[in-house]
Amino acid sequence: MSVLIAGNWKMYKGPAEAIEFCRAFAAPAGADVVVCPPYASLREAMSSGLTVYAQNVHWAEEGAFTGEVSAGMLLELGVAGSIVGHSERRQHFGETDETTARRAERALEAGLGVIACVGETEAERERDETEDVLRRQVSVLSPHDRLVVAYEPVWAIGTGKTATPQMAQEAHALIKSLLAAPVLYGGSVKPENAEELLSQPDVDGALVGGASLDVDSFTAICETAARLSRS
Ligand code: PEP
Repeated sequence: MSVLIAGNWKMYKGPAEAIEFCRAFAAPAGADVVVCPPYASLREAMSSGLTVYAQNVHWAEEGAFTGEVSAGMLLELGVAGSIVGHSERRQHFGETDETTARRAERALEAGLGVIACVGETEAERERDETEDVLRRQVSVLSPHDRLVVAYEPVWAIGTGKTATPQMAQEAHALIKSLLAAPVLYGGSVKPENAEELLSQPDVDGALVGGASLDVDSFTAICETAARLSRS
């Protein structure tokens, strides 16, 4: 299986910067590469032929849901999928296991791919609750051939702290014992640590935040993934 690298641009890169990035970036043969721009830049990112996912998607077809976007609208644009349940959505915008599940279910039903994020906070890890948290978060998801899970320990996102390859492997093995889906690792993945993380047997790829904003570092991570896909 090809290693999947998804770049989460968060609330960075408007249309002009998205075009600039896509002109400079060439996905290396062998790796599956996805970029997840803000809604405002989806069309521009797609114009370069890259596979593009949104960062969230609502469960309703349409309606009075200010600030939300439906699966049908994303499909009409040509978007291939969406992230759901990112920890920044859970932390700052009240996203729960239940809303994450509803978003994932509807998006899959509509024909989109889904990257569903799970992961424990630092306090939960310190209290030795990682396994319980992952079991609870994964229990609301149902297997689907377009569903990918991203294990993103919250304490490692945007902090420069990375789970050790052993920690990642342990969490991925647990998730895979609960749900048949590829599992990406996310949390301060950089060119320097990509190989040791991606080499773990149950790590099927990476969800990359900060390092996906820079063409050179994102390219380096994708090249590592391409090399490992071939080996
Ligand atoms: C993310 O946004 O999903 C993420 C993992 O961010 P970072 O790589 O910056 O930690």
